[in-house]
Amino acid sequence: MAVSPLPTITLQVPAKINPQIRVGPLQQDGYHDITLVYQAISLYDTLTISHNLDGPTIQVTGMDSDRVPHDERNLVIKAANMLAAHVGVEPQLHFELVKCIPSEAGLGGGSADAAAALIGCNILWKSNLTSSELMDLAAHIGEDVPFFIEGIMAIGLGHKKPLIKLETAGYKWIWVLGVPHQGLSTKAVFQEYDSILERTSTGEEEYLSRRQGCLDTPWGSCPPEELIDDLENDLELPSMQLLPDLRIALGAGSSAGALASLMSGSGSTCAFLAESEEHAKILKEEIQKNEVFREVMTASGPVRGVKVLETVS
Ligand code: ATP
Repeated sequence: MAVSPLPTITLQVPAKINPQIRVGPLQQDGYHDITLVYQAISLYDTLTISHNLDGPTIQVTGMDSDRVPHDERNLVIKAANMLAAHVGVEPQLHFELVKCIPSEAGLGGGSADAAAALIGCNILWKSNLTSSELMDLAAHIGEDVPFFIEGIMAIGLGHKKPLIKLETAGYKWIWVLGVPHQGLSTKAVFQEYDSILERTSTGEEEYLSRRQGCLDTPWGSCPPEELIDDLENDLELPSMQLLPDLRIALGAGSSAGALASLMSGSGSTCAFLAESEEHAKILKEEIQKNEVFREVMTASGPVRGVKVLETVS
């Protein structure tokens, strides 16, 4: 591999959890109406980008690297190719991705990596795209990608709609994350959601009122323990139909004394809210005893999005 002595950049990007997800019926454009709260949390993938005349190439190591594509299907390469076409350069780069975010876990790992690639390539190619221009490009890669550009907390309104940034007052949310052995495919979860909707005929009106509730909640400006009743994910029910162990997984948090238990994204990670760092340690030890989980970890939020760790010229 011919690597030229041009700058190298290393970035870190956080995972996300979703303190609330409201899902409406399927729209005519094939996407669901959806309102979801994002919170970036302190669990990070690291991406190092260097020049490579044979690029784009990628090497993936770390957590679940065997479940992640090591070729142009990786969202890192997709993001680099997209930015290269947009600014008119050749994507002659090599990416070294070190994963700590579990895959197919509802923690947005692939989307996070794509955001890191956009920001890193923008710097290396001196393209000078603004954060908002990068977010517009990011929306073409995937619905969650724009959030990771700046991170912290935001409300997403679904397909290609701009994010609503949430002001935060410095409250720390401390989470214990339990990752079940089996992941869930986002597509399968939404299909199951549609079949439940057909059976229960929950309509647009009900969704709109639940969505308003989400928009009116003081997500960033209130201590998390006052928002416990708001921590709900409409995708939990369909996910439990597909993965019955999820009920046991969520129950493990409640029995261990978590303030709240909810599934993140389209699963299958369960997020358990703790009162303090000390409480999180105790919760983690308790939850780890449950065989339903392959990984149990602690993280806190909100944290900022993609961050440059090092540039070497
Ligand atoms: P979401 O909640 O956005 O559906 P997730 O956290 O459940 O995401 P990811 O880890 O992002 O799941 O993986 C989703 C899919 O994306 C997997 O099929 C995975 O193979 C693919 N993928 C592509 N690039 C990456 C990447 N860099 N890291 C992880 N997964 C990736």
